[in-house]
Amino acid sequence: MSREHERREAEHRSETDAGVNRRRFLALTGTTAGALTVGTQPATATAQEVTDVAGFSCDHPHFTCGREVTAADGMVSTVDPIAGGVAARVLREGGNAIDAAIALQYTLNVTQPHGSGIGGGGFMVVYDAESDSVEAINSRERASQGATPEMFLDDDGNELPFGEAIQTGEAMGVPGTLKGLETARERYGSRSRQRLIEPAIKLARDGFTVDWFLAEQIAANTEKFNEAALETFSDESGALYTTGDTMTNSDLAETFERIKRDGAEAFYEGAIGEDLAAEIQRHAREPERAVDEADLAQYDVTIDEPIRTKWYDVELVGQPLPSSGPTVVSMILKLLEFLEIDTYERRSPEMYHLLAEAIIVAWGDRMEHMGDPEFVDVPIDSLLSDAYLQERADLIELGQSVLTEGCFGGGEPHRISTDGQTTHFSVVDRWGNAVSYTSTIEQFMGSGKMVPGRGFMINNELTDFDRTPGGPNEPEPWKRPMSSMSPMMVLRDGVPEFTAGSPGGWRIITSTMQAILFRYVYGLEPLAAITEPSIYTHYCGGISWDAGVPEEARQTTAEWGQEWDATPSTLGNVQVIDIGTDALTGAADPNRDGQAVGLERAGGPGRH
Ligand code: GLU
Repeated sequence: MSREHERREAEHRSETDAGVNRRRFLALTGTTAGALTVGTQPATATAQEVTDVAGFSCDHPHFTCGREVTAADGMVSTVDPIAGGVAARVLREGGNAIDAAIALQYTLNVTQPHGSGIGGGGFMVVYDAESDSVEAINSRERASQGATPEMFLDDDGNELPFGEAIQTGEAMGVPGTLKGLETARERYGSRSRQRLIEPAIKLARDGFTVDWFLAEQIAANTEKFNEAALETFSDESGALYTTGDTMTNSDLAETFERIKRDGAEAFYEGAIGEDLAAEIQRHAREPERAVDEADLAQYDVTIDEPIRTKWYDVELVGQPLPSSGPTVVSMILKLLEFLEIDTYERRSPEMYHLLAEAIIVAWGDRMEHMGDPEFVDVPIDSLLSDAYLQERADLIELGQSVLTEGCFGGGEPHRISTDGQTTHFSVVDRWGNAVSYTSTIEQFMGSGKMVPGRGFMINNELTDFDRTPGGPNEPEPWKRPMSSMSPMMVLRDGVPEFTAGSPGGWRIITSTMQAILFRYVYGLEPLAAITEPSIYTHYCGGISWDAGVPEEARQTTAEWGQEWDATPSTLGNVQVIDIGTDALTGAADPNRDGQAVGLERAGGPGRH
């Protein structure tokens, strides 16, 4: 861990402690979720100045920036302050939440190339105020038409080591992000592609400031970089970019220029796609199993009906399978409702025990049943039914664990996959449109391979399949690997009230779930909800935990069968927006450099 990382973690811990005092105040005043007045407390960290975005500054009277901010006319919450500035500027010009989210994603490809980009995929959940409906634009990567269930096995039939598998051409799925952005723009956008991609082009061409996190990811991933990546992440003297440097990516600027001119076709059926397919093929162990130009030409997104689950007096809404995320989040939260979690104190042994047990039980169903619904019959309605979840909740008791030996549901521990990273962001505009979007190239820096001359990284999403054949999530031709990404919204009376999501592989599910739990059941304000110490476990047990989980709770629940890691971890990177009746409150997780940007007095028709 670098010194900068340690410093950030210390800063995070002190911000978390500051949050605790505020929450104690809230508890004393008897504030509960639903009745919360929005964000009267100042953010716990000062705003980060953004100097890279033309027409945007945190000092501008129309913008307000911070870990948690409140504003009337628009809100952006993202891990990247530069991309947040780009999106806020789109909102200020009168663009809607979908326009802003599109510009934000293009920018992230430049400024946070380790987390997402047009070489990857994602899930964009959109609430459209005009039609009063939610839909999910699913740009998940697909396996090639030639994929086989055995493609991640070695010649002896054993699983390829993960570190090896992620760098094979077989791991690289057909990217969906660009089709997803263009589809969203065509369905909901009010601004041209040219306008929305331009800030990213400018940043790639003229340069942007490398933050500590990107610098760390460059340094940490050089071993898997191909030559194009090494070159792009190095300055003119050949040294790797480091914190504070100005990085340019002229290849990506040129790629985006082509997309600006010719649209998604330039990628899926044009010269960019040819180079992408050639690079994937070059890394394949058997080229016929890996993505080729025909696969790219055939790719399209799907428009999915979100899953919707009644929980207390609100509704949990999110991307359905092939992401297991929102389904499992909803199952856990429903189990906790049936277990009457609200009768136990936050940070009590009882609360952590029930939390861990509910996660373990829901995870058993994830592993046993879930996969791409185009290929697998998943009994989603039954899994989310009150009758079934009540039955499952009845398995859980204080004083003992459902796990006595092995993994819950009899699954195998070898399927555990907690590595991987991505990015989550949310945008809400003054018309009430909302976007909750999680976007990924799977591992940090994806496969480590950049398309030569094109400036973007290729995903390794297909290692989200089980590497051993046989289960519902085995690789198959044209199938989408099961995800954990959890772009979610909480709706009250059919209208979004809260958006949430996180990166973090399997931890995405537990981090997003706990943000919603702490906000709604324990009444914490948005920043407090995402910094409240959380835990992570899965169907095989063993608990990772944030600093701040009391020792007494760990000791007591250890006697009840929980196994806690010896030391704390940093879990998730949650971004949320709370949508009140008069104001929006955005909060960005302080464990990285994220910030929320609020907008007052937006421009555009009817506002001048
Ligand atoms: N590949 C992961 C998933 O879809 C997302 C990346 C991450 O692990 O954060 O679940």
